[in-house]
Amino acid sequence: MAINLELPKKFDSTVERTHMAAEHLFRPISRKYDKAEHEYPVELDELAKLAKKGRGSEKSADSETASENDAPSVNGANMRGLLSALEMSWGDVGLLLSIPGQGLGNAAIAAVATPEQLERFGDVWAAMAITEPSFGSDSAAVTTTATLDGDDYILNGEKIFVTAGSRADHVVVWATIDKTVGRAAIKSFVVPMTTDGVTVARLEHKLGIKASDTAVVRFENARVPAENLLGSPEIDTKKAFGGVMQTFDNTRPVVAAMAIGLGRAALEELRRMLEDAGHEIDYDSPAAGQHATVAEYIRLESDWEASWLHTVRAAWMADNKQPNSAEASMSKAKAGRTVTEITNKAVEIGATAGFSETSLLEKWARDSKILDIFEGTQQIQQLIIARRVLGKSSADLK
Ligand SMILES: Cc1cc2nc3c(=O)[nH]c(=O)nc-3n(C[C@H](O)[C@H](O)[C@H](O)COP(=O)(O)OP(=O)(O)OC[C@H]3O[C@@H](n4cnc5c(N)ncnc54)[C@H](O)[C@@H]3O)c2cc1C
Repeated sequence: MAINLELPKKFDSTVERTHMAAEHLFRPISRKYDKAEHEYPVELDELAKLAKKGRGSEKSADSETASENDAPSVNGANMRGLLSALEMSWGDVGLLLSIPGQGLGNAAIAAVATPEQLERFGDVWAAMAITEPSFGSDSAAVTTTATLDGDDYILNGEKIFVTAGSRADHVVVWATIDKTVGRAAIKSFVVPMTTDGVTVARLEHKLGIKASDTAVVRFENARVPAENLLGSPEIDTKKAFGGVMQTFDNTRPVVAAMAIGLGRAALEELRRMLEDAGHEIDYDSPAAGQHATVAEYIRLESDWEASWLHTVRAAWMADNKQPNSAEASMSKAKAGRTVTEITNKAVEIGATAGFSETSLLEKWARDSKILDIFEGTQQIQQLIIARRVLGKSSADLK
């Protein structure tokens, strides 16, 4: 069977627009906000307005395609989101994570909200709060509680490392509605940051993506309407964790796309350095016979290609409503590891130029590591893939 690896033409304008923003808006201010941690990049406000306008027409284009094309292959919102994240990350991952209206919580809302909730929360900027002081990887260990009181839930707990936690106007919070039941009782709630009892307690200082704020957010008797619970309030022990985990099937390929965009930026810079040094890359002769740095470059580039193919597949499956947990994890595991390797090798091969601030390579090496940590670390992705491939449950394989 022939496989057409070209992207559909309807995405050309998205790629072009987001690439222009990355090149002309992000790159010129990239170093500035790497140095000015915790300062909000005001330049993003205009971009957010344009993005909001664009989203309306893209949404209708994607839903038209979906309904016209009952079968066999749809490319919709997941593929578009992936391409947009990829191009923006070529510019700067930290700035991408700071664009108003495009938080990880927005992806969670898009993945599991009802049509009524989509209407209500369509225009918010939502951060995503899962991690707590007592756990990170083991997301079934949520201790934040949501207690039903009349028509409201009352939230209590503390969330840490919340990306965009101090800038977003809403936050999607994972909380348990019944501590005795375990993972099936974990639900997500859309909480306005202006709610009484919600406070930003601290901002973190980090290795990379310094343009992006990372906050500790506390919930002390924070009251939200019951209809802010995303999905069903029923505790379905058969489905267990299914509802909230579904979010990751959509967001992990997006994080993989960030890694691919950043990886491409580093490969381009490395290639420029090699060519300036007089090393030509010859794809028609064996890598082993070429300069050692060129052979390394070719190896990195082929790993990058593999990451790209994994990621496009995972997003395509999400657009076509195919179960993609394993593929979403594969894309994130492969792309997260690859980008870390590409950026660190680029620093190594660039040597003085790689380690100094004359180029952005050293910054990209610092930025890249997070893409192999958040939305599930490398090890957690491998665990999920192993469970799927071997047909084991989370109790069998920990
Ligand atoms: C900059 C930044 C932004 C973040 N943004 C968000 C956000 O917006 N929202 C949010 O909720 N969280 C966010 N996080 C938290 C992030 O998701 C967690 O850091 C991540 O899930 C890992 O959890 P942990 O740090 O507690 O590490 P741990 O879970 O303690 O893991 C420590 C190490 O052990 C490994 N490990 C753990 N369990 C296993 C296992 N079973 N088998 C093999 N190895 C294992 C891990 O891979 C890791 O290497 C962010 C983190 C950072 C650094």
